[in-house]
Amino acid sequence: MIKKINFPELQNEKFTIIPLPFEDEILSSWIVRTAYAHKTHPHTFTNQYLNYRPHAFFLTESDITLDEDMIKTIEEKSYHKIDIHSLMLKTYSGYIQENIYENNPTTFFTHQKYCPVCLREDKVPYFRKKWRVVFYNICHKHQCRLYEHCPECKTKLDISKMYENKLPYTHCHHCGFKLQRGRRLPIHKKHILSLEYQNKIFQTIEDGYIQLGETPVYSFLFFEVFSKLSKLILLNSKHRFIDKHSLFSLVKNAEQHKINHPIFKKIDAKAQSALFGLIMYIFEDFSHNLEAYILVNDLTYHDLTTKVQDIPFWYETAVNEITPRYLPHSVTVTKEEVEHAGQYLKSTGKEINKANLTKLLGCNFGSNDNKLKTLL
Ligand SMILES: [Zn+2]
Ligand SMILES: [Zn+2]
Repeated sequence: MIKKINFPELQNEKFTIIPLPFEDEILSSWIVRTAYAHKTHPHTFTNQYLNYRPHAFFLTESDITLDEDMIKTIEEKSYHKIDIHSLMLKTYSGYIQENIYENNPTTFFTHQKYCPVCLREDKVPYFRKKWRVVFYNICHKHQCRLYEHCPECKTKLDISKMYENKLPYTHCHHCGFKLQRGRRLPIHKKHILSLEYQNKIFQTIEDGYIQLGETPVYSFLFFEVFSKLSKLILLNSKHRFIDKHSLFSLVKNAEQHKINHPIFKKIDAKAQSALFGLIMYIFEDFSHNLEAYILVNDLTYHDLTTKVQDIPFWYETAVNEITPRYLPHSVTVTKEEVEHAGQYLKSTGKEINKANLTKLLGCNFGSNDNKLKTLL
C-alpha cells in the first residue's frame, strides 16, 4: 500500500482503475475502493489526485456537501463513467429535508453504521448510503440491527483509515477487528414493529409524500416536526398514550447523551428506531392518534409549535384543530364560565384539562401571559 508519497504530476492524471459503484454505495466507500485499486492509502490518494490535505476529504462530509467543482473533477478523472451525484447523500435533498446543504446538513444523517451480514455476503464489501440515514437502524434484508460502532472496541468507523496502515477498510481502524465478524444483532419479537415503521418511513421518502387523512404531505415537511415530537417525548416526558405501545420501553430505558441538536441523537440507534416508530404511531390513523396524544398529555398549541422553525402548514392546521391557537389576552372568562365548561366536559365524558378548556372557551389556558391558570 502506497502511503505518504508525493507525485505532484498525479494531480493532472486521471484514475487508472475505475471500480463500478455497487447498489446504494456511498461516495466515500467508492473513493476508498478506488484508492485501494490504485494500491494507495485513501488519504494519500485523495491528496495526490484531488489535492486534499490527508484525511480532509473524509473529514469534510464529502458524502453530503462535496462541491460542484470537485464533483466535476472526480467525474473527469473517471472518464465520466461515474455519476458522482448519485453516490452522495444529497440525493435525499427534497425528500428527507428540503435543502440538505443549507441548514444543518447532518440533522438526518449519522456517522457510518453497518450490517455485518451484508458485509459478509458482499463479494466485494462496501458501505451503503442508507447506513448513514438516521431513520435506518435495522437492515431490512437481514432483519437485524445495524452496528453504530466497532463491535469490539466501540470506536466510530472511519473506512478511510487503516489499522496500523496495514489492514483494509473491512477492519476497524482502531483495533483491527474484522467488521464482518460482528455478531448479527437480532430484533426482539416485541420490538419488530420498529422495522415496520422504518419501512413506512422509507416508503415516505421514496414516494416523496405521506398521506395524512385527506391530505398528502410532502415527506420533508413531514419529517420537519420529528425534532419537536422527539423533544416532547425525550425532554418533556410527554409519554401518555405512547406509553402503552410495545416500543415505548426502549425509549424510556434509553440512556440520554448530552447531544441536543438534533434532539433524537440523544439516544442510541436502537432507541432511535423505537422513538421514530412511536412518532409514526402518533401520526397513524390521522388525526385520531395525534388528538389522543395531545389531549391526554394536556398539550397546548404553544407546547406543540414553539421553536419549530417555519411550522409546516399541515401541522399548524392539524394542531390548531385539536388545540387552537388564541391570542393570550383576546378573551376573558369568569370563574363561573370555567366551572360550567368543566361540568360540560365531564358530562360528555371528556377530561377537564387545559387543552379541552382552551378548545371550548376559546382562550389559551396554556399561556403564562394571562391569569387563566389561576381559575383551574
Ligand atoms: Zn444486512
Ligand atoms: Zn475496533
